Amino acid sequence: MRYQKDTLPSSTSPINLLSLDEVGMGRLVQQFGWPRYRTGQILRWLYQRRAKDINQMTDLGQAERTALASLATIPRAVGCTVFRSIDHTRKLILTLNDGLSVETVLIPDEDRLTLCVSTQVGCTLDCRFCLTGTMGLKRNLKAHEIIEQVLTAQDRLDSGERITNLVFMGMGEPLANMEALSEAIRRLTNKPWGLGWSPRRITVSTAGLAARLKDVAPLGVNLAISLNATTDDQRASLMPAVNGIASLKTLLAACRRYPLPPTRRLTFEYVLLKDVNDTDADARRVVKLLANLNAKVNLIALNPGPGIPFETPDPQRVAAFQTIVRRALPCFVRKPRGLDVYAACGQLKRMELVTL
Ligand code: SAH
Repeated sequence: MRYQKDTLPSSTSPINLLSLDEVGMGRLVQQFGWPRYRTGQILRWLYQRRAKDINQMTDLGQAERTALASLATIPRAVGCTVFRSIDHTRKLILTLNDGLSVETVLIPDEDRLTLCVSTQVGCTLDCRFCLTGTMGLKRNLKAHEIIEQVLTAQDRLDSGERITNLVFMGMGEPLANMEALSEAIRRLTNKPWGLGWSPRRITVSTAGLAARLKDVAPLGVNLAISLNATTDDQRASLMPAVNGIASLKTLLAACRRYPLPPTRRLTFEYVLLKDVNDTDADARRVVKLLANLNAKVNLIALNPGPGIPFETPDPQRVAAFQTIVRRALPCFVRKPRGLDVYAACGQLKRMELVTL
């Protein structure tokens, strides 16, 4: 082994192997004077075998492992608490290295097991019906902290389980943390050393950061837009921050420009709030707004939360709304999941901050 000490970082803080992208890892391997294939080997240990310790990397020689461990660490999450719902949804609360925590939710449903991933601690936005919005933004997650949620969920699966879908619908606004989101998706979809996910099984959801939609397209993943209102006045009162950034018109224009592959649809999510945005007139406006878009609509009746000043509409109202939209577009009603452990849409907020 050639060990070019003078070219390696001399600082006392260890290198976080999870913070390195492929180029960064390649550079580190080069600085050690190791053959190039070591880059792929180390990355495979991190992402495919979920190594927590450099000593597990048994296809590196003992001397190489010692050299690497003297300079670098694999700082995976420091803790994980799991809450199980009676409907088998599981909420995982991960404690990050700086003591903040982030939530990720495993949702089993017939032949699917969906993992709902967070991109920020708290959220940049202030949507009035969402509990995460009331926390404010604590900070953006780093790419490796986004991946950490997938790795930890995989570590915690029951026997025979396999995650089939990933949705970026946890805490935070994914497009407000675009760089980390993109890098996380690159590692998730990388086949030679990453997690090998098909981008078709990944969905990124945005509250409507219109100018950034174009940055999602190259990732090849599905895009969901949280519409939630049918007039600008309504949207401004329900989602003030994001509507201030992009009006409905701007948002829908960006959706029309989105380079959607022919076999795919944009998903529009719509939280139904009793007597606020759940009328027949709203349903007809949804149809009008989405005309000429290759779209489908997912309706979610409000999941209540402490301090959330809205009510859940009756199932009959939800059904009537669906009937109108379905005349023009595919339209589904999402079942609430994990309500009893505050794991449902819009309910992700540190447990101790929620009075159950
Ligand atoms: N910030 C992104 C990602 C979060 S996705 C976005 O808004 O798309 C979370 C989804 O849950 C969004 O569609 C949001 O509109 C919805 N939601 C938020 N609060 C909710 C609540 N209390 N009940 C039901 N759905 C809610």
